[in-house]
Amino acid sequence: MTSAPKTLRNGNRRGNPANASRCCARTRKGTLCQAPAIRGKQRCRMHGGTSTGAPKGSRNALKHGNYTAKAMAERKAIAALIKRSRELVQEVKSQ
Ligand SMILES: [Zn+2]
Repeated sequence: MTSAPKTLRNGNRRGNPANASRCCARTRKGTLCQAPAIRGKQRCRMHGGTSTGAPKGSRNALKHGNYTAKAMAERKAIAALIKRSRELVQEVKSQ
């Protein structure tokens, strides 16, 4: 006998669907949703599981550009550079 195929003949995955991870979104009733979560996500299709997320950076509240993705990446790169230069200074001092 050959090994079992990965999917069923209708294309669904093998295994018990009741064992799928559950959505923990809070419903209007106050209880947990508990619908099966989207594969690799923590929420179901009705509670944002299929969402790709918000756009990068803040575009709606643009007043000065301090929080655009570009500005934040620039600050992060500068901070890393400063950290590296401080470490280099410490290295030179210790020798
Ligand atoms: Zn849900």
